[in-house]
Amino acid sequence: MATLKDNINTIKGIGEKRAQAFARLGVFTLYDLLCFFPRRYEDRSVIVPIAEAVDGYAVCILAVVADDPRLSRIRRGMELVKFRVFDASGAADITYFNQSWMKNNIHRGEEYIFYGKIDRKGRHCSMTNPVFEKAGAQSGSTGRILPIYRLCRGLTQKNVLQSVRIGLDSCAGQLSEPIPKEIRDRLTLPDAQFAYENIHFPSGFPALDQARKKLVFEELFLLACAMQYRKADRLEKAGPVFQKQDVERFYASLPFSPTNAQQRAVSEALQDLASGKAMNRLLQGDVGSGKTLCAAALSWVCAQNGYMAAFMAPTEILAEQHCHTLQKLLAPFGMRIGKLTGSLTAKEKRQIRSELEAREIDLLVGTHALLSENISYPGLGLVITDEQHRFGVQQRAALEGKNENAHVLVMSATPIPRTLALIIYGDLDVSVLDELPPGRQTVGTFAVDSRYRERLNRFILKQAENGHQVFVVCPVIEDSEEETGLSLKSAESYTEELRAALPALKIACVHGKMKQKEKDAVMAAFARGEIAVLVSTTVIEVGVDVPNATLMIVENAERFGLAQLHQLRGRVGRGAAQSYCVLVSDAQNEEAKTRLSVLCKTNDGFQIAEEDLRLRGPGDFFGARQHGLPEMHVADLGADIILLKTAKQEADALFEADPQLSLPSHAALRLRLKQMLQAGSMTLN
Ligand code: ADP
Ligand code: MG
Repeated sequence: MATLKDNINTIKGIGEKRAQAFARLGVFTLYDLLCFFPRRYEDRSVIVPIAEAVDGYAVCILAVVADDPRLSRIRRGMELVKFRVFDASGAADITYFNQSWMKNNIHRGEEYIFYGKIDRKGRHCSMTNPVFEKAGAQSGSTGRILPIYRLCRGLTQKNVLQSVRIGLDSCAGQLSEPIPKEIRDRLTLPDAQFAYENIHFPSGFPALDQARKKLVFEELFLLACAMQYRKADRLEKAGPVFQKQDVERFYASLPFSPTNAQQRAVSEALQDLASGKAMNRLLQGDVGSGKTLCAAALSWVCAQNGYMAAFMAPTEILAEQHCHTLQKLLAPFGMRIGKLTGSLTAKEKRQIRSELEAREIDLLVGTHALLSENISYPGLGLVITDEQHRFGVQQRAALEGKNENAHVLVMSATPIPRTLALIIYGDLDVSVLDELPPGRQTVGTFAVDSRYRERLNRFILKQAENGHQVFVVCPVIEDSEEETGLSLKSAESYTEELRAALPALKIACVHGKMKQKEKDAVMAAFARGEIAVLVSTTVIEVGVDVPNATLMIVENAERFGLAQLHQLRGRVGRGAAQSYCVLVSDAQNEEAKTRLSVLCKTNDGFQIAEEDLRLRGPGDFFGARQHGLPEMHVADLGADIILLKTAKQEADALFEADPQLSLPSHAALRLRLKQMLQAGSMTLN
């Protein structure tokens, strides 16, 4: 008998080639196949009288062919088959392009179902290239709600449809039911078999809604439970006890006073550090809210207690900058700061390793290089990761793993919509920096198209003449070599263009493919004010602090997520001078325009995050695959907010009543969570 774990090539009709195609879609087992949900549906269930069919909508009509189909060639390579059909209400003309065989497939006097978009001109009604099927033949492509799947080369809709049918028939009975029955009953959620059957082959729209609701709930509920499970786990974990220190001493050394929000966040963390349990806290604060200072204060406390802290940044440039900033803040207290990035020479790395062994470093700042297997951290007491959304849950875990019981502070500048944060950070305690340091001003933001190029260039010149500096960001597509290559060229060629347009200015370019030394040199020169205009790919996206920069220009702004644009905008407006952000885009579509207009209207990161989630969905919001969160199969975190809340409430209540999930009615849930968490990847299957 087939089981859910079987490879899909056990299905009749799936050979090696098709199995490979399915693999590209992430489908390996029968279970994957059942979880490969349709992307959308076509309503081919209702047959509409021709006279009532509405212009522009796809419908099914049931009609008799009135004449013999005529084949004509209107020009080379363009063949038409035309005929007229009618039902009791009216007539329609049907045309097939370049499908000359249709002439012999359609017969005068016979009745067919045609499914296609209606085109109405006055009283004249027509359809082009409709799907057709002989009336009563029911091959399955009309007369029902038809699922439409995501495809790739080597697969057709029909392949997927038939495979899913076989999969459901052989294994649907084996699907487990992780949601306790009591909850399912209360929320009137159908059982697994019904849900999987009807998400693929809905018997009607109410059934589809039921199925979807159940699967969305299940997905969100499992995620919420998994986070609870992690939290329960971590509450057991002891952490080094840090004696409370007088942070005022640290504050007193600063050239400014910390904001109330910063002080609050630091003291919340200090409570954790003194509690005997390992801290696991998220510090969330909009761009420029001053998270680095909090990190510095906690590293200071850590060092005062004789422990070492590690600080992980997502890019070399950021690590560099943090290192510099923290050095300035902490060296006066005699703290020894080390730096570890991928670009260090083998000798430099050896040096760092031996200093670590000898406990000669109080704070180690670095990139992913901190995670290298051959490095250990004796005396590690605190782990800080910056810009959390760039690290997966796994990477976080890897660094924490360097010392099981180290305290953990995660800093994120991406304000996550509250509803979502509730679940995603369900395993973390959260501090929020909801206040910017005084004297910040709103960055004037404008969306323009490239007709403004000349005015924009004059504006650049004006900023430079006033002694200020300018960032220009060109898009780069993450994770794709080819496309990276393309847009790198665009950053470089745009630099040339600008140099030609503004010969008086010193213009430099920095991008991810440059050697570290070169990047560093350019960034450092920019920070020193020796370069007026810095053209870059998004390597400067996070964190870089150049208060003298007053203009941020983003090219092809439509290619960026709102949250990302907001981050970029945060690079300016850090000094006293009025600052601007110009989003250049020639995108014509309404959606792109709406998105950019959100940024022009508000500077509030939370509001932008909510909008971003609503407009683009969570996948894009977090950036491809980097969020380290499970991919959602059905749930749309933007649209399913009510279910999200319900799922969270139910999960909380369940863990409240049965923290260990030891009740028999929770056994299936416990098993599923164990599998999820063991897989480490936190994927839901
Ligand atoms: P982010 O939260 O985006 O990481 P940073 O830590 O880079 O923000 O801080 C942004 C800027 O604000 C830095 O130049 C920092 O020195 C400055 N800053 C931080 N806290 C304060 C404060 N309380 N008062 C004035 N300036 C501050
Ligand atoms: Mg920062």
